[in-house]
Amino acid sequence: MTLIPATGRLLYEGKAKRVYATDQDDLVAVEYKDDATAFNALKKAQLLGKGALNCRISALLFEHLERLGVPTHYLGLQGDHWMLVRPVRVVPVEVVVRNVAAGSLCRQMPIAAGTPLDPPLLDLYYKDDALGDPLLSEARLERLQLVTPDQLEAIRDLAFRVNGGLRALFAQVGLDLVDFKIELGFTSTGELVVADEISPDTCRLWNRSVSDVEARILDKDRFRQDLGGVVEAYGEVLKRVQGVCPEPRVYG
Ligand code: UDP
Repeated sequence: MTLIPATGRLLYEGKAKRVYATDQDDLVAVEYKDDATAFNALKKAQLLGKGALNCRISALLFEHLERLGVPTHYLGLQGDHWMLVRPVRVVPVEVVVRNVAAGSLCRQMPIAAGTPLDPPLLDLYYKDDALGDPLLSEARLERLQLVTPDQLEAIRDLAFRVNGGLRALFAQVGLDLVDFKIELGFTSTGELVVADEISPDTCRLWNRSVSDVEARILDKDRFRQDLGGVVEAYGEVLKRVQGVCPEPRVYG
């Protein structure tokens, strides 16, 4: 195995990942960190093992989406917290799909946490930490010229396909996909693909067989709400998902 060295040029450092150039233009290496942040990085911690867990969970989910015909930036794993991906021009829009009301939706709207949302709700946010990732309206999106109307349609379609695929997969292993955030990007050939990561950092996942509203949480809300057992919860998600998915591929 040729391990992509961490000595490649650092292209970008985010809150949970670092992105490095490689010796190939059409390949970048993503390092998943153990850093945990919440509330726009006001709350921070190091959670040993989180990076490796999220890297593996993301790989399994990207490969699952790929099998369903949903294009992603993912190419393969390398080591326990490195992923090789296609470089993309990230659309500065956070795409959230909600199947059950939780989080900001319940803080901003008179909707009780736990209310099923049928059909699922799609919310778009402008990706800008300094502005606190504000909720977008279609008119604002148009004004900012972030995407064309056709691209917006493609984003919506992709988001709902991701939701359908992941919701069914998680249901199979006794988990409710409450909501999730994805980021999308355009490849060098102009293809719109799912990028970034898909993990308990970016999804709300509730254990179906547990009714206690705190004990059922198997995602980043354990960190946000100081519930403890964050890494253990992510480990449980990995154990369940890898029980029904093929071993993720190693790049190269
Ligand atoms: N989310 C994310 N990154 C963000 C904001 C939200 O991954 O910057 C995820 C979050 O984990 C949840 C979903 O998107 O699964 C919806 O989050 P929400 O809008 O409810 O915001 P929150 O309650 O997390 O502030």
